Amino acid sequence: MAEFFHGRMLIDGKLTEAVDGEHLESVNPATEEVIGRVPAGKAADVAAAADAADRAAPAWAALSAQERGSLLKEVASALRAESDRIVDLEIRDSGNTIRKLKLDIAAAAESLEYYAALAGELKGETVPATAHGLHFSMREPFGVVGRIVPFNHPIFFAAGKMAAPLAAGNTMVIKPSEQSPLSACVLGEICQQVLPPGVVNIVTGLGSTAGEALVREPRIRRIAFTGSVPTGLAVQRAAAEVAVKSLTLELGGKNPMIVFPDADLDAALPAAVRGMNFNWAGQSCGSQSRLLLHESIYDEGVARVAEIVSGLKVGDPRDPASDMGPVNSKAQYEKVLRYIDHAEQDGARLVAGGHSLRGEAFPSGYWVEPTVFADVTPEMRLFREEVFGPILSIVRWSTPDEAVALANDVEYGLTASVWTRDLATALDTVRRIEAGYIWVNGVSIHFPGTSFGGFKNSGIGREEGIEELYSYTQPKFVHVNAMPR
Ligand code: NAD
Repeated sequence: MAEFFHGRMLIDGKLTEAVDGEHLESVNPATEEVIGRVPAGKAADVAAAADAADRAAPAWAALSAQERGSLLKEVASALRAESDRIVDLEIRDSGNTIRKLKLDIAAAAESLEYYAALAGELKGETVPATAHGLHFSMREPFGVVGRIVPFNHPIFFAAGKMAAPLAAGNTMVIKPSEQSPLSACVLGEICQQVLPPGVVNIVTGLGSTAGEALVREPRIRRIAFTGSVPTGLAVQRAAAEVAVKSLTLELGGKNPMIVFPDADLDAALPAAVRGMNFNWAGQSCGSQSRLLLHESIYDEGVARVAEIVSGLKVGDPRDPASDMGPVNSKAQYEKVLRYIDHAEQDGARLVAGGHSLRGEAFPSGYWVEPTVFADVTPEMRLFREEVFGPILSIVRWSTPDEAVALANDVEYGLTASVWTRDLATALDTVRRIEAGYIWVNGVSIHFPGTSFGGFKNSGIGREEGIEELYSYTQPKFVHVNAMPR
């Protein structure tokens, strides 16, 4: 039996408990066993973390970009060295499958290395505004950045997304999700070893206490939030009550994949299943959860997708043969089952899965079948609401205008995917789709250096490219009068 994990927060270079000594328990979603606990950080802990980050900020900003970059590379190496321990812990804390989880750790390390190398690109500009003067800009860090992390890719969002703010010369307070906080405590141990005290602080705790305190903390002027739309709105409101803060929001999606009749179905239909991210039990923001099939390929497409999804192996997330593990928490499990009920009540046609798997094979835990509903229409809740679970909807369309209208007929605009062999059709569709990250004849993959983020209620700002690095700086323009008389 695996060891019980006692996580601690990292504040000012020390691994600590919460000021009031309270804890939150972590539950393995595959078994419902309590596998660890973390401090239930409160406002006082956030204040101590912000204070430490504020004190560490001038010295961190005064390092050269290369010096900061070297330390980020050391964090990346330490993360790779701890990979097995983190994978073991995070599988038990999140239910994410081992094959994909290893990629998350690699992606976090690569992000640290990418921004370490990019730090030297924090350049300003010179502008020939007058004949004798010198007019130039510099990029300066904000000071302390607050980052709030969702439950679905815990180590990637905690470790990978600290790269850009740190490279830009900011210090940080990070708040992991209370649903899967354990790997962030290992990250805290790594940061304690590698970074000067106070540069990275990690405060575990509930969103309503530690999260809100972080947003309202006056010393944190730049907030990066990843999570759901309702929480994103709450973050905007709370921040605005305190100060003028710089915010980026990476929020949810109800992402369309449009398949035209000329598409290569042998490639497109398996991609539709991959794009739904069943390996994360559908819990990935970029998932293509609405498959829009042209009427001429609809029946064949529905049948083939249903067959592929029915063949997915649901099982122990530690087994490399498992395609899907449990969903992350009891709340997620109940939400997924509720949406299955809604879809049935609303008249969608169940073509794969559709049931809880709790029973003989899985006596406990949050297990649901990978599920596909066909004949989903815009009036249905499943069409427009983000389930963030393993449910794929299939929608029929007749004309390209209708396909685009269906794709855009939701509050979200995160990702989209277009499948056709015709370049003109592809480009015309891409221009008309309201989304920030679009694949043509592809799904899922985030390409290095290309910025990710949403239109509409899917967010503000872009991450993963140079724009993310710049977003953690504020430009300062300087005007030098070389001839003061
Ligand atoms: P969530 O909004 O419930 O929680 C996210 C984080 O916010 C958690 O750390 C939580 O503790 C904290 N929080 C909750 N209430 C808060 C408050 N009042 N003030 C400050 N912080 C608060 O989201 P979740 O369920 O953890 O994650 C799933 C959501 O995240 C989905 O909607 C998904 O699409 C989205 N997501 C988006 C991206 C992206 O890049 N666009 C990536 C991953 C996940």
